[in-house]
Amino acid sequence: MSDKALQKIVIVGGGTAGWMTAAPLALRLGKSCQVTLIESADIGTVGVGEATLPSIRYYNLALGLDGADFVRRTQATFKLGIEFKDWGWRGNRFFHGFGDFGPAIDNRPAYMYWLHLARQSSDMPSYEDWSMTTAMARANRFIPPYGEPGTVTSSYSYAFHFDASLYAAYLREYAVERGVRRIEATIDGVDLHPETGFITAVRLADGRRVEGDLFIDCSGFRGLLIEGVYQAGYDDWSAMLPCNSAQAVPCARVEPLTPYTTSTASGAGWTWRIPLQHRTGNGHVYCNSFISDTEAARVLLSGLDERALDQPRQLRFTTGRRRKSWIKNCVAIGLSGGFLEPLESTSINMIENAVGWLLQYFPDRDFRPALAEEFNRLVAQRYEFVRDFVILHYKVTRRDDSEFWRYCANMPVPDTLRHQIELFRETGRVVIYDPQGFSVSSHVSILMGLGVMPEAGDPLIGQMDQQALQLHYARMRDTIQRAAAAMPGHATFIAKQIGTA
Ligand code: FAD
Repeated sequence: MSDKALQKIVIVGGGTAGWMTAAPLALRLGKSCQVTLIESADIGTVGVGEATLPSIRYYNLALGLDGADFVRRTQATFKLGIEFKDWGWRGNRFFHGFGDFGPAIDNRPAYMYWLHLARQSSDMPSYEDWSMTTAMARANRFIPPYGEPGTVTSSYSYAFHFDASLYAAYLREYAVERGVRRIEATIDGVDLHPETGFITAVRLADGRRVEGDLFIDCSGFRGLLIEGVYQAGYDDWSAMLPCNSAQAVPCARVEPLTPYTTSTASGAGWTWRIPLQHRTGNGHVYCNSFISDTEAARVLLSGLDERALDQPRQLRFTTGRRRKSWIKNCVAIGLSGGFLEPLESTSINMIENAVGWLLQYFPDRDFRPALAEEFNRLVAQRYEFVRDFVILHYKVTRRDDSEFWRYCANMPVPDTLRHQIELFRETGRVVIYDPQGFSVSSHVSILMGLGVMPEAGDPLIGQMDQQALQLHYARMRDTIQRAAAAMPGHATFIAKQIGTA
C-alpha cells in the first residue's frame, strides 16, 4: 500500500446516499482503510425514493447481492417503466418503457419505420405495439429478458421499486459486516486545516471528534460540508423545472400489482403511484406558486387506491445542482450534490454514478486537483442531460388548462433541448448527448407519447420494399403479444422468486 493511500474516510449521513456509498467502499477497500459513517436519528432521512432505473441492477450485482434476497428484504417489485397519464392532454396515456420499439434495421431505429408506414396507412396500429415492455405492462406480466440478442424477448430491461428505508437498512448491514463503523450522533462543528483549508475532523454534539482524510457529504439537501463549509453554490433550475414541493403518503396494496410506476399529471404538477409488495407509495409533486399545500394534499388523497396509512408528509426542494460536488477533500453525493424532481426516478441513479466515478477517480492524500475537476465535469454533464430530459415532459405538452401548464408551455428551455425538440418535430431524428443516459427510445416515447409527430420522415426508408416491411412488423407485433401473454403475472413471478409460491 502506498504511504499516501487514504486511511480514514468519513461519510456524513446515513440516508440512501450514505449507505449506497458506504457499501461499495467497504467492499473495495476492505481493511486497508477505515470507513466511518455518521448519521443522526434527530435529523432523520428524507425517507422517499422508491423507484429506480435499470442501472440499479448493476450496482446490486457489483456488491454481489443475491437477487431473491434483495427482493424479499426490500419488499421490491419489478419496474418495466413509467405509465404517463394526462400529460399530453387530459385522457392522454402512454408508456415509457426500458426497451426499444423492435430491433433496428440498417442502422435505423424501428420507430422510423413505424412513422413511414403510418404515413402510408391511417389504420396502422400504435407504435407502442412494437414495444415488449408496453405489452407486458398492459398485461401485468413479468419475467426478465431472455433469448438471443436481436430477438424481441431480449429487447427490454427492467429496474425495481423498493422501500427506500429497507434498502438503506439492507446496505447498512452489508457495509457494517464488511467493517464500516457506524456512529449515531449529530455533527455540530467542523475542523479545517489552517493552511490548506482541508477538513481534518467533524465534531459531534456529544463532544467526540471524528478525523478523516476524505469526507463524503451525504447529509441531504442541507449539504452540511459542501455548502456549510465550502459554500459551493447552487445552480437553481426552478425557472425550467418549477415543481418545488411534494407530499408523500402510503396506502394499502391493491391488485393487480403493476410492474410499472404511474405518473398522472395534475393541475400544478403530477402524482406518482409506486406499487411495492407490502404497500403502495403515492406522492404529489407540485409547484406551490400554483396550488396551496392543502389543495395539493386533497388532490393526492382523492386519487389513492385505498385509505391512506398515514398523514401526507410535506417536502420542499429546489431543483438544481451544486456548482461543484468535489472541493478539496470533500465530495458531495446524493441530495447534498443536487436534486432533479423525481419524474424519471433519476436520483438514485445519480448516486450510483457518483459512487462509480469516485472509485474511478479515487484520490490519495495528495488530492490532485485534476481528479476533482474530472469528477465535477462528469457530474455536471450528467445533471444537465437529465435536466433536459425531464424538462421535455413539461415543455411539449399540449395542456393549457391551468396557469401551471401555460407557464410550462412558455418557459425558456436550454438550447440543447430546444434543438432536440425542433429536430424531432421536423425530421423524427433524436440527438443523444449522453450515451449512458436516456436512450433514443426513451426520447421517442416521451415525444410521440405527448403527441409530437415528425413532419418529415427518412427518405432512405421510402426506398425499401414496403410490403416486406409491413409483413415484418406485423409478425413482430404478433410475436410480442404472444410472448407477453405466455409470461407469468407480476405478482406470481415475485412470489416464486421470494419462495412464497
Ligand atoms: P437524506 O435521506 O436526507 O439523508 C441525509 C442523512 O444525513 C441522514 O442520515 C441525516 O441524519 C444525516 N445528517 C444530516 N445532517 C447531519 C448532521 N448534522 N449530523 C449527522 N448526520 C446528519 N430518487 C429516486 O431515485 N427515485 C425516486 O422515486 C425518488 N423519489 C423522490 C421523491 C421526492 C419527493 C424526493 C424529495 C426525492 C425523491 N428521490 C427519488 C430522491 C431520493 O429520495 C434521494 O436521492 C435519496 O433518498 C438520497 O437522499 P440522501 O441520502 O442524499 O439524503
